[in-house]
Amino acid sequence: MSQTHRAVAIDGPAASGKSTVARRLAESLGLVMVNSGAMYRAVTWQILEEGIDPTDSAAVLEAMSRMKIDCGVEDGLSTISINGRLLTTEIRCAEVNDHVSKVASIPEVRERLVAMQRNYLEENDVVMEGRDIGSVVFPDTPFKLYISASEAVRAARRARDGEADAVAKRDAEDSQRKASPLKISDGSIVIDSSDLTIEGTVNAAREALMKLGWKD
Ligand code: C5P
Repeated sequence: MSQTHRAVAIDGPAASGKSTVARRLAESLGLVMVNSGAMYRAVTWQILEEGIDPTDSAAVLEAMSRMKIDCGVEDGLSTISINGRLLTTEIRCAEVNDHVSKVASIPEVRERLVAMQRNYLEENDVVMEGRDIGSVVFPDTPFKLYISASEAVRAARRARDGEADAVAKRDAEDSQRKASPLKISDGSIVIDSSDLTIEGTVNAAREALMKLGWKD
């Protein structure tokens, strides 16, 4: 891990509130917010765009080997482009929700994206959110949070946002896969956001970071 830049790792299941917390922490602490899920989503979107079967690992890898993937930063937030196209809201569609866990379970897909995730730390202090940030991407960082919420609360949040997303199915796939499964990594502070407001969750996250030794 870089000696000069600091990483805050935030992991947790779908719709646990981790993106919101990561964005708010990034704003208040002056960090770049990296959404690692967007990278898995972007590759999945491109696979579907090319009409490739996302369950065919060999075909996914062949297609990925042809992809030009560019990660950047705009206004303090990570961006992702594939073959020159900046991908934003399209990667949140129901089809991508349905297939992303399958694509993310392929070890070689993860290898390429994890390398790009680590690159962010070369030039920035980051808060990165995902499933394996504390366990695999930045295992040496002392600043690890795990944000959870009950399944019912998470499903309700997605429904309220008008998103078709079977969070329970996605979580089961993400937790049970062999390659870098979602788990609470050693040294993480766990925050249950089920009964907290956004403000309350962000405050709990800030306090947890201070407890872990974060200094402004
Ligand atoms: O965070 P988000 O829900 O957008 O992530 C979409 C999917 O990407 C997850 O369900 C998971 O399959 C995959 N993912 C992952 N590792 C990460 C981030 C996301 O496997 N670090």
